Amino acid sequence: MDQHEALRRRHLADMTALTPSLVDRLDWSAERLAEHRTAQLRSLLRVAVDRSPWHRRRLAGLDVDRVTEADLRDVPVMTKDDLMEHFAEIVTDPRLDLAQVEAHLDGLTGTESYLLDRYHAVASSGSSGRRGVFVWGWDAWSTAYAALWRYELRSWLAGQSGPVTMASVAAGRPTHASRAIFATFTRPELVVRGFSIASPVTEIVDGLNDLRPTILGGYPSGLVALAREALAGTLHISPRRIVCFAEPLLPEMRELVEQVFATTVGNWWCASETFPLAVGCGASPWMHLSDDLLIIEPVDSRGRPVPAGTRSATMYLTNLVDPTLPLIRYELTDEVTVLDDSCTCGSAHRLVADVEGRMDESFDYAGVVVHPHTFRSPLSRCRHVLEYQVLQRTDGAEILVRRGETADLEPLRREIVDALVRLGAPAQVTILDVPVIERHPSGKLKRFLPLPAARPNLVTA
Ligand SMILES: [Zn+2]
Repeated sequence: MDQHEALRRRHLADMTALTPSLVDRLDWSAERLAEHRTAQLRSLLRVAVDRSPWHRRRLAGLDVDRVTEADLRDVPVMTKDDLMEHFAEIVTDPRLDLAQVEAHLDGLTGTESYLLDRYHAVASSGSSGRRGVFVWGWDAWSTAYAALWRYELRSWLAGQSGPVTMASVAAGRPTHASRAIFATFTRPELVVRGFSIASPVTEIVDGLNDLRPTILGGYPSGLVALAREALAGTLHISPRRIVCFAEPLLPEMRELVEQVFATTVGNWWCASETFPLAVGCGASPWMHLSDDLLIIEPVDSRGRPVPAGTRSATMYLTNLVDPTLPLIRYELTDEVTVLDDSCTCGSAHRLVADVEGRMDESFDYAGVVVHPHTFRSPLSRCRHVLEYQVLQRTDGAEILVRRGETADLEPLRREIVDALVRLGAPAQVTILDVPVIERHPSGKLKRFLPLPAARPNLVTA
């Protein structure tokens, strides 16, 4: 056995040992979860103050042994720019530096994945703004994997499901967390086969027809494409469970996939920085926050907390499980709605609605901000539109559409123009019929491509 495989097996054993306690926490009360978060927060802040000069400055004045979740509000917000600019001062293992992590990412082949024999590095797709690079510790990597599956495992332990064959249709690149974590924790008795979303769809369909997975995982846009293949009669699988991750799951996508495969879609809300932020249990159409692993603060566009039931403009994340690269009030631009409801599955981990968009997908026309919903709503209602991508233009928008049949898209175009006019935004809209919509190198379909924020400066220069 080579050294990498030996490490991987040790990691797999550690993850397996950790799993029962993570499943147990699904039955913890809200009070017990809150106490646990407070204890974890204090130990995270202790490490940050001890080993990160950058955090030490920002946390000065805070009594880390008595700190509560509410006190976090006095800590300044941390951005991805902060993280990338001050990486050396933030990371808590002095052996790690950004150049070395980048070199490790460049050299990843998918078979060798450990950095310094204990860390995993992942890169965020960076479709909007700056590329991010994150390092995960040994225990955090195990915890993330076990936490992704703990609701499934709970049903399995309750005898509600049989053997598992899983297919994952996701990124083909080992720098992406969704591929890397499955590679670490693969095991012989669990059949997991990864398909690259960049492969031709006929190849994926043939592979899935051969495998007949009981669990199908993938990006929402990929699952929609597979649902259309099933409708067309080429794909013949009946997964017991479907999970999706990495892209927003829109209501019409959930509806189509659930209808076609006659099962519920469990959404996983993930970020390269940490995951799972929330996981769908299958008993309700919502997701459960990982209330034992992280603290989230949903806020409005001015950083003020928003109440339950209101969609946030952005949010701050404190990752309680990984002190390697401490994320304390770190801004994630996801728009999240925490719900006041409780779930019939009995878990007291709070519920959140599917994350439908991100603030950084909005189009800003010299101060007139157009939310993606303005485009998404009419586009998703038009049955001739199979897939779309909206590109911001200085005078309006260009919409790439892949459609199933020849149809008149002029009424759709007019509807979008009218909506933009009502908002006072530039309203030159063109719809282009294209055979295929390019995916981001990560394999994700980016539906909304705002003009780069720096563009106006470049134009005036
Ligand atoms: Zn539930």
